[in-house]
Formats: sequence, C-alpha cells, structure tokens
Amino acid sequence: MSDIKYNRIVLKLSGEALAGEAGFGINPPVIKDVAAEIKNIYDLGIQIGIVVGGGNMWRGESGAAMGMERAQADYIGMLGTVMNGLALQDNLESLGVPTRVQTSIEMRQIAEPYIRRKAVRHLEKGRVVIFAGGTGNPYFSTDTTAALRAAEIDANAILMAKNGVDGIYSDDPRTNEDAVKYDTLTYMDIISKGLKVMDSTASSLSMDNHIPLVVFNLNEPGNIRKVVTGENIGTTVKE
Ligand code: UDP
Repeated sequence: MSDIKYNRIVLKLSGEALAGEAGFGINPPVIKDVAAEIKNIYDLGIQIGIVVGGGNMWRGESGAAMGMERAQADYIGMLGTVMNGLALQDNLESLGVPTRVQTSIEMRQIAEPYIRRKAVRHLEKGRVVIFAGGTGNPYFSTDTTAALRAAEIDANAILMAKNGVDGIYSDDPRTNEDAVKYDTLTYMDIISKGLKVMDSTASSLSMDNHIPLVVFNLNEPGNIRKVVTGENIGTTVKE
C-alpha cells in the first residue's frame, strides 16, 4: 500500500482537459481517460472534490471582448462548467465511482445546490463531489473556485491538472525553449513574477489559507496518483 500524502484534495480540471485536441466541447474518449485517472486515486481512499472549468465551452472575457455585457457573458461560462460536471459524473459513475454534483447556482433537477456541510459529508462517505458553476459569481474564475472550495472543505492540497505542461515555467515552454521549470515556488513568487498559473485572486486566496498547490501534467497516465502518494512531480507551490 502506497503512502498517502494528501488525503483530501481538490482537483482542478480545466475545460480544456475534457476537450482533447479540438480544444472545444466535450470529447468522450478523453473524459473517459480522465475519469479512469480519478478512479485510480479514488481506489486509494482519497477524498476527492473536483472543480471543473468551462473554457472548452465559453469564456466570459471573450464574450465581453465581443461586446457582451461581462456579467451576462460570465453566467454563460458558469453554465458551461455544469455541462462538463455532468459529463464527468456520468463517466465516473460508469466506472463505479459514486459521485454528487453540487452547483453554486441552483438547478435542482440535475444537481444538488452547493452546501458545504453536505459536501464534506459526501466526501466522508466516499463520494466524489463535483463542484460546478464556479463560485456562482461573475468576474471570478474556476481557479478561484478551486481555492475557495479547498479552503471550505479543508482540503490538504489543490491539484491543478494541466494539458501537456508538466509544471510551472518561467515562460511558456511551448514558445520559449529557454523557459525554466520550477520544482517549488511560493504564491508570492507567482504574484510578483506574474506567472500564468492561476489568477491573482486564486493565488492570494490559497496563500492566505495556507493551501499547497501542485501543478502537473494530466496527459501522463498515473500522474494524479503520483501526486497524492508524494512523488516529486510537477511544481509545488506553498505559502
Ligand atoms: N466563471 C465565472 N465565475 C466563476 C467561475 C467561472 O464567471 O466563479 C465563468 C467565466 O466567464 C469563465 C468561465 O466561467 O471564463 C469558464 O471558467 P474558467 O475560465 O475558469 O474555466 P477553465 O479555464 O478552467 O476551463
């Protein structure tokens, strides 16, 4: 039995992680693979909360750039995260993993409303909780949602799964071959160096609440398991 480093986690999955190469929409084989990776750590007894993004459907900022009212555009983005959450639920349950979707905006026919104490109870009972709808507020991101939910449920860490990038770099490694990978950083480094890991609201919330963040590559099978069992992969960010 492997040693467990993080017993209760918030896994942040960007919308992109569910889209595959198209970068848009939901790709069933891709989401199936992601679900299998999650089951892999579920079987270790890890308590798992998942915050799903929605960038594969819609980004409020892009809508606003095209002339939409920002808050309205952001609500469309929040609804996109719910679609992703339901797709993920379907895939996890088909693997036998019990789940609950909780939305920050009520839609009782398809999911529970977000209730912190209920979410914690689900985790204790061995159910994966999928947090959809972001924070429920425009002008925020699902990264901030991950930081917020992690603080609320007292998670040991936020696991930020990236598509094809294996950690935090000094610059974009896809366009700058001199970019250097960091093994460890502080939240203050992220903010002061302007590193594009998570937005500053999410960084400061995680820093203030002393929640470590691990950024790693989702596309390598077994990586989520490596993080929760304490293998040194990706980049770890601490206060
Ligand atoms: N969003 C929001 N408030 C939140 C979370 C998300 O308004 O608390 C909206 C925002 O428009 C954002 C979109 O939902 O562009 C999708 O979320 P995000 O960009 O964080 O998804 P990701 O990049 O992780 O796929």
